[in-house]
Amino acid sequence: TNTSQPKRADRSKVYVADLESTLHYSLRVEAARTAVLSGDQLATFKCYVAMLVKYFPGRPCVQTYLQSLDGWLRNWTEPELPRSALKEAMKNNRDASHPAVLPTNVSWVGCRGSEPHFRGYPCGLWTVFHLLTVQAAQSGPDKELPLEVLSAMRCYVRHFFGCQECAQHFEAMAAESMDRVAGREEAVLWLWSHHNEVNARLAGGDTEDPKFPKLQWPPPDMCPQCHKEERGVHAWDEPAVLTFLKAHFSPANIYPDYAE
Ligand code: FAD
Repeated sequence: TNTSQPKRADRSKVYVADLESTLHYSLRVEAARTAVLSGDQLATFKCYVAMLVKYFPGRPCVQTYLQSLDGWLRNWTEPELPRSALKEAMKNNRDASHPAVLPTNVSWVGCRGSEPHFRGYPCGLWTVFHLLTVQAAQSGPDKELPLEVLSAMRCYVRHFFGCQECAQHFEAMAAESMDRVAGREEAVLWLWSHHNEVNARLAGGDTEDPKFPKLQWPPPDMCPQCHKEERGVHAWDEPAVLTFLKAHFSPANIYPDYAE
């Protein structure tokens, strides 16, 4: 029977399961693949966790988890970090008066593919990165550290993302234009427009889930005001897109899993 299957996800929502599954997989599986972290990889990992602490809008136990991992990493001043020590530091702590827990199961709701080899983690990683650029834009002066999230994400993708071909494509896009981003809102739009470039490149290809065709996002039925026409040619209304992204990737639009 199909009773354990979640209800069909609502694509206008962001789901806790996707966010937490992504963080678990990224921190405990993907970043912990090599026997020892050192040099640029170690610096990237520390920077990534520090950025998550600042901007990931997690449940209290997840925020405590990230804070305690960040504190532990800051105290690790040796040049090499063995995976065994890192894995120990990344265990959950349920006993403390403030539990530090990042669930260890991987389950996809909004990112669930029609087959297990579709969607999942790469979808979750995009979702987390969009969420972080939006939270950063909502929390500090626009012109202050505009590249804080994008740089951490760029380093993460370069040093850890398991899909090497993806990492190379992304690095090429970043090298071309990321450094020109001058504000936090511009960073939100940079990630959005480059994700759409990736969507266009991959549309119709063999990694595309046939049930989730790659679109220029958000499509008109999700955000009619994001689309306009200039002399008969489609154009984006970027201020409207920014408003849409801020609402879509806001804590108020993050839903518990399997919501009715
Ligand atoms: P995804 O593209 O993963 O999008 C996830 C969700 O984000 C969507 O469901 C939608 O809700 C939302 N979304 C979609 N577009 C946007 C947008 N423009 N702005 C904001 N939100 C949006 N795969 C390859 O085969 N080759 C590659 O070179 C490649 N490069 C990648 C680079 C990176 C950095 C990442 C994270 C992934 C890459 N992938 C690549 C994987 C690919 O982009 C998809 O993640 C994967 O195919 C799953 O697609 P999806 O349909 O779940 O939607």
